[in-house]
Amino acid sequence: MEFALEPSSSLHAHSRCRSMGQLPQNNTIDFDAAKLQRMGFANTRQNARQPISLAELQRQLSLQLQTSLEAERILDLFFREVQRLIPLDALTYQHQGSDLRLEFGKRASHSAGYRLSHDSEYLGELTFRRNQRFSDHDLAQLESLLASLMFPLRNALLYRRAIQNALRDPLTDTGNRIAMDQVLQREVDMARRHLQPLSLLMLDLDHFKRINDTYGHSTGDEVLKAVATTLKEQLRNVDMVFRFGGEEFLVLLSNTSREAAEMIGERLRKAVFQLQFLVQGHPIELSISLGCASLLPGESVDSLLRRADNALYTAKRSGRNRLTMAG
Ligand code: GH3
Ligand code: MG
Ligand code: MG
Repeated sequence: MEFALEPSSSLHAHSRCRSMGQLPQNNTIDFDAAKLQRMGFANTRQNARQPISLAELQRQLSLQLQTSLEAERILDLFFREVQRLIPLDALTYQHQGSDLRLEFGKRASHSAGYRLSHDSEYLGELTFRRNQRFSDHDLAQLESLLASLMFPLRNALLYRRAIQNALRDPLTDTGNRIAMDQVLQREVDMARRHLQPLSLLMLDLDHFKRINDTYGHSTGDEVLKAVATTLKEQLRNVDMVFRFGGEEFLVLLSNTSREAAEMIGERLRKAVFQLQFLVQGHPIELSISLGCASLLPGESVDSLLRRADNALYTAKRSGRNRLTMAG
């Protein structure tokens, strides 16, 4: 079933939210419990027992849903609030093309599914489930309530995309330094807690300046892209490749021992060396040097990075196109 927010209802919902005035225009602020209580939707369990009209629930929902930019929180609120009018057992949501998939409640036999779109912009798929059949009246009410979800959900999806873009390097589509710092600290903490190994490969293109000087900067950019693609093709978890600097990359190998990391590093080196990169029909030779370090008990992120970098430096000094293991 196709559900698209009609222009008239969307304008209506929007202007009504705006005219409330007390709400911050900036949706990043979550309301605290006291404020929610004053507005009449703090205690959902108590509210659930009180009858509520469709119009009143729509009014409250449109206020409440714009208190967050997190899709998970918005849908959780929606799921709980809708139950004040229409009994439900579960709500699932998924957004194809992103990894977003959410489930609330427990699965049940009857379902009503909606593909959400607004001005032909795809906003995901939502399925309501329960053990009792949905009547036409229930469906009409659900559809009315869905209108109040459109703008908050759209904002949440935009916000999510913006956050994801802020963590990617646009040229090579690998993680950037901000992402790397976050992920590295998290993975080191995890490895320590679970007593699992963790290894790093720091790698740098050999004589890359020559490529830029000989063929131009835009060819250099294409080479960087091709090398990044090759690295990702060789790895199971492509989310763990980061552009560390200009022509330097870091590969984070969680739950990977020193021996396994050495094998992976060698595989990456060979793959780049075998890469067929043509400039005006002529192949140019590409290679990388790598340094590998595995986390020592009690070691800091900085120390681990330093050891990988030192190993890379040794690989460069001893002739390039090679992998050196940190001592
Ligand atoms: P080595 O084997 O010792 O690593 O030599 P190298 O020439 O690769 O290293 P060097 O550090 O001397 O040069 C790196 C070059 O990478 C210089 C810089 O202009 C280039 N570079 C950095 N970022 C980019 C980029 O985004 N695009 C392009 N095309 N070049 C870049
Ligand atoms: Mg280099
Ligand atoms: Mg370099």
